[in-house]
Amino acid sequence: MAWQTLDDAKAEALSCTRCRLWEGRTQVVWMDGSSVADLMFIGEAPGFHEDRQGIPFVGAAGKLLDQLLASIGLDRSGCCICNVIKCRPPGNRNPAPDEIETCNPYLQAQIEHIAPRVIVPLGNFATRFVLGKQVSISKVRGQRFEALGAVVIPTFHPAAALHGGGQASPTGVALRGDFQLIASVLAELGPAPAEGEPQLVEQASLF
Ligand code: URA
Repeated sequence: MAWQTLDDAKAEALSCTRCRLWEGRTQVVWMDGSSVADLMFIGEAPGFHEDRQGIPFVGAAGKLLDQLLASIGLDRSGCCICNVIKCRPPGNRNPAPDEIETCNPYLQAQIEHIAPRVIVPLGNFATRFVLGKQVSISKVRGQRFEALGAVVIPTFHPAAALHGGGQASPTGVALRGDFQLIASVLAELGPAPAEGEPQLVEQASLF
């Protein structure tokens, strides 16, 4: 691991000048929610409001994300939310490949230290990062994969539903369905075993 602790990684990220994006940012957007969560959401990059507040998903897409979380009985304290890149690209343009590459160690550190059991990449950029393949979100969403030590359930970025006609649009309906899948996978996994506790792999008769 590049850093001993998540706080070490965060401290370095907060003053990072590894790529050009530091010049235009108000602040680095590290993550929100719990750092001991079983469930991690990964977005693309901070937008205007996130850059101002230093918190991921606080704009319109974030409001929809909060509603989707509520639809499965969760809020931000029950998951962690981060982005592929930690600084806002100017004018909300797509992150450039070299910016993703340069920022990569920070997201790797978040995944390694938090070790979520379920990762939900939101949209193309996060899904390609997590699955390590140039897939299209519309082809892989709503399916279950294994990667980075977690069950991975890619879904659309909430902004896609906002741009595509709202919650009643096909993208909005797909998102709601994918959140139901997230809830059922979490229920299937059950509570995380306490540290040092043996993990039940298969139910077997003792006699
Ligand atoms: N979109 C993202 O991908 N991330 C944010 O934090 C906000 C909007």
